[in-house]
Amino acid sequence: MSTAVLHYLAVAVTDMGRKRTSNEDSYGLSIEHGIYLVCDGMGGAAAGEIASSLAVEEAMRVLSARLADECASVRMAAEEAVAAANRVIYSRSERNSRLAGMGTTFVALLVRERRAWVVNIGDSRCYRLRNRRLEQLTHDHSWVDEQVRLGLMTVAEAGRSQYRNVITRALGTQSSVSPDVFEIEAEPGDLFMLCSDGLTRELGDDLLESMLSLDLPLERLCSRVVDAAKKAGGHDNITCLLVRAEG
Ligand code: CA
Repeated sequence: MSTAVLHYLAVAVTDMGRKRTSNEDSYGLSIEHGIYLVCDGMGGAAAGEIASSLAVEEAMRVLSARLADECASVRMAAEEAVAAANRVIYSRSERNSRLAGMGTTFVALLVRERRAWVVNIGDSRCYRLRNRRLEQLTHDHSWVDEQVRLGLMTVAEAGRSQYRNVITRALGTQSSVSPDVFEIEAEPGDLFMLCSDGLTRELGDDLLESMLSLDLPLERLCSRVVDAAKKAGGHDNITCLLVRAEG
């Protein structure tokens, strides 16, 4: 394995889709600080949009400040950012009854050279394509995913279930929340994808794997994936954030 320094390229596209009249997804990225983040908000009226944009804004603020110090613990910075974002959303919803119960998913990839951390709450996902093989790195915090993991439901049944929208963990809906945080190693050529469920509901993993394996510039790859999700139905907002590690 080479020991060359890794560089990262990143691009994101978000799209309202074909059925919704607003976009409740938000994303943030900072190549300088190695922060990549996708949030998918939920709540009535404009609450979902507010929740996801508050989450991105607050998490980017905390993470950029903490990770500017190269010696800082990434895991601690991630936990601090999640707690801060949770607090901002929760207190805003407590002050305004129209925003009561608003929340958001949160999936982040934080990179530092060859080390990377995945942070997850809810059912937005992080995937990694390595050697043309796609692997889902996160577990959905959703009722159907729990049933699948318990062996009580197949993946196909989960996709058709009337309860497929029920998520079991969200940012901002409770006074505190615990994210999944785990460390992985990045290699040259790895392609990471962060996305909202509006993408993965439309495109299966096999199709995503073949699309992401195409040898295209990152911008074209990203817009091609989002366009495919729109053509497949576009029932929900679609967000795709791609991060490529280059040696
Ligand atoms: Ca969604």
